[in-house]
Amino acid sequence: MKDVFRKTSAEVLSALDVTETGLTTDDVQKRREQYGYNELDEIKRKTAVQVFFEQLKDFLVIILLAAALISAFLGEIENTIVIMIVVILNAILGTVQHVKAEQSLNSLKALSSPSAKVLRNGTKEEVPSREIVVGDILYLDPGDLVSADGRLLENYSLQINESSLTGESLSSLKDIEPINEDDVSIGDKKNMVFSGSFVTYGRGVVVVTNTGMKTEIGKIANLLESAIEKKTPLQASLDKFGKYLALIIIVIAVLIFTVDLVRGNDVVDSFMFAVALAVAAIPEALSSIVTIVLAFGTQKMAKENAIVRKLHAVESLGGISVICSDKTGTLTQNKMTVQHIYVDQKVVEHDQLDLDKDLENRILLMSLLCNDSETVDNKAIGDPTELALVNFAEAYNIDELVIRDKYPRVEELPFSSDRKLMTTVNTYEGKNYMVTKGALDVLLDRLAKIETSEGVLAFTDSTKQQIEQVNKDFSMNGLRVLGFAYKEIAEGQAIDFEDENDLTFIGLISMMDPPRDESAHAVAACIDAGIKPVMITGDHKITASAIAKKIGILKHESEAVEGFDIEKWSDEELQEKVADISVYARVSPEHKIRIVRAWQEKGNVVAMTGDGVNDGPALKQADVGVAMGITGTEVAKEASAIVLTDDNFSTIVKAISNGRSIYANIQNSIKFLLAGNTGGVVAVLYASILAMPVPFAAVHLLFINLLTDSLPAIAVGLEPHNKDIMKEKPRDNDTPLLNKRFAVQVLSEGLVIAIATLVSYHIGLSTGDNMIAATMAFATLCLARLFHGFNARSSQSLFRIGLFTNKYLWFAVILGVALLHIVLLTPALQGIFKVAPLNAAQFGTIYMMALMPLVVIQLYKVLFVKKV
Ligand code: ATP
Repeated sequence: MKDVFRKTSAEVLSALDVTETGLTTDDVQKRREQYGYNELDEIKRKTAVQVFFEQLKDFLVIILLAAALISAFLGEIENTIVIMIVVILNAILGTVQHVKAEQSLNSLKALSSPSAKVLRNGTKEEVPSREIVVGDILYLDPGDLVSADGRLLENYSLQINESSLTGESLSSLKDIEPINEDDVSIGDKKNMVFSGSFVTYGRGVVVVTNTGMKTEIGKIANLLESAIEKKTPLQASLDKFGKYLALIIIVIAVLIFTVDLVRGNDVVDSFMFAVALAVAAIPEALSSIVTIVLAFGTQKMAKENAIVRKLHAVESLGGISVICSDKTGTLTQNKMTVQHIYVDQKVVEHDQLDLDKDLENRILLMSLLCNDSETVDNKAIGDPTELALVNFAEAYNIDELVIRDKYPRVEELPFSSDRKLMTTVNTYEGKNYMVTKGALDVLLDRLAKIETSEGVLAFTDSTKQQIEQVNKDFSMNGLRVLGFAYKEIAEGQAIDFEDENDLTFIGLISMMDPPRDESAHAVAACIDAGIKPVMITGDHKITASAIAKKIGILKHESEAVEGFDIEKWSDEELQEKVADISVYARVSPEHKIRIVRAWQEKGNVVAMTGDGVNDGPALKQADVGVAMGITGTEVAKEASAIVLTDDNFSTIVKAISNGRSIYANIQNSIKFLLAGNTGGVVAVLYASILAMPVPFAAVHLLFINLLTDSLPAIAVGLEPHNKDIMKEKPRDNDTPLLNKRFAVQVLSEGLVIAIATLVSYHIGLSTGDNMIAATMAFATLCLARLFHGFNARSSQSLFRIGLFTNKYLWFAVILGVALLHIVLLTPALQGIFKVAPLNAAQFGTIYMMALMPLVVIQLYKVLFVKKV
């Protein structure tokens, strides 16, 4: 439809053939067939066949294929066959792993896709944003992402941030009137909303005019940025490391090749050997191991209610040293219940209200009128604070919808966490009244009078003190307190924030939101794990402190401050104090970003939770932004790296424990590969330097590297999570994964494997048959590397972690052992794989030597590794 902004909303509705009850299921079906899903084109996913051929493009595989070709030319057809079999099997294995990892990461993405509220078949329902069609009637509330282009039908102070389209960071104030101008830019189309923007304030209802690639953002975005696969920092640094290592190894391979030639060895054999050595020693699988371990790890985290939206966050999780958490709903249950009412200068228990008394009746009515929440068919819709008021009235058999019908709303100033106030204008007995509710400290300054049973009186200092004392008493018990006030206004008078003044105070309502049962335990676990839990809340300082004390976040009153205090401090002052503060009360979203920065400046890795429309910047600034899945706005979810499907603080702690384990598993898996490769290279160098016959045939190294190596490496990466991991301190993020300690371990473990291999080799050589020696060296290296998988599982000994707790590794090791024995024992394969038949004693030697690194390293762990 052209020039939608010129038309009235009624004209747009009729042009789109939409009625007031919205589209029917049938309409939606038809329109979807016509317009398709509401999504931007993504980069096309690769098919399994493409992935398979991609594997063959790998630098090392190309070298191998070249070697196979050269062999074929020189008539060494056996070599060619072996290389081809090994390369193809390896590529199939790689493809399966890649596709599985991809599938699991995609299903994760689907879990965190945004949703929207639409009117269909006459009822309001929530649907995934991709299912919106042209003509759908869409509801917009603060924090919602606008997921399609649309024309405004109803407007309640709607403000929208359209910076992704216009670059303008200030919100655009919307208006419903048609615009009678030519050449109107997007930013000036005030009666329209656009996909890719989000609601910062107010409410609105729109009819969808364009979806998917037809939206304004669709026209400028050819590719979805999120669809571009970015490597995580760890993958990037491993890629870099892998390249350096490859260079060094190629130099070694060239040297060995030259030495072999000088010694008069056969050119083809020497060449094949150099190639095999390079392939065996270069750890080509590093970054794909990270992908696989991350894919499995994030799957587990999703099952435990933490959905990872940005993969790199998993790497940061392990290093988190501070969690800044919201209180309401995250540390508490978000199940508010009214406890007391303070009205007519006295406190009334929640079940003792006397509705025959005018003031007690009116505060109850006001609490329903200045309120957007409702319960329909026992289903609660809205904010828990307001729902507490609805439920409270229900206990007195008063229905909020009946009251709202009787005293209709004329206007409203919606609640926002910044203002901490909400105002509505309702008609009551022929007059218009403003009703304002909100945080008492904000309300106090706006009061001019107080109504008691003696009439409306002036608001004196002593009245103020009295109310403050009641507020304090409530708050000390961890109760949330709302103040209520009103004033009469002229009919037809439009209201603004400045009108929230000169109000008449009527009373307070206190409500209880108990801590979650798990919170205290999770807080203790954090402290044990060297992580500082910090509470950040919009609630009152005394209320927040009472709850924080109960769950163990706050030890001393002086650790609690208010947003107001932060405003007085410079960034440097905040940095100085930040380590001593556990509770921030009456905080606005802008304060959150300063708190995160202050911790980060001090070298900490910070997780920050958020749910509100203005939490986006802080969530992005944090190392790991965590959004609430249930109560969180779409904007907060979009800005975060992790979404909690249960809003629960203890889920963050679990996610950190998973993050630590995943990182440790990746490290162990890489250590496993590098130590094994080192073992092989050291054995080759030893023989080469001493001018002995080469201990392995080229095909032996290919066999180990490509067939029996990658499965145990993955299995080590899937090690079940170690319960003790949360007794350690957070990882220092400045220490790279491949640090000095890591290098020492790789080299020493590699050396032990090399020694075992060479002992077998020497015993083999003593028979006088080089082929037996090579077979024994090959079999020992292969088995020693497989068994070394058990060493690589953890820094702790097997006695501590249990021999049978990683079933994947058992599977990989048994499979590897079986493959080796097939080659060793099948006469038809012995020729191809260049192995000699062995006797029982030789098998015994191989097993003894292959088990030697396992025994030595386990012994070391039992004796010298500190138990956590
Ligand atoms: P957090 O989730 O960060 O712990 P919060 O959700 O408690 O904080 P807000 O919702 O921003 O913080 O509430 C801040 C204050 O605003 C509350 O202490 C309360 O006094 C007041 N308030 C909360 N909800 C409403 C509402 N719907 N209408 C009016 N005032 C409200």
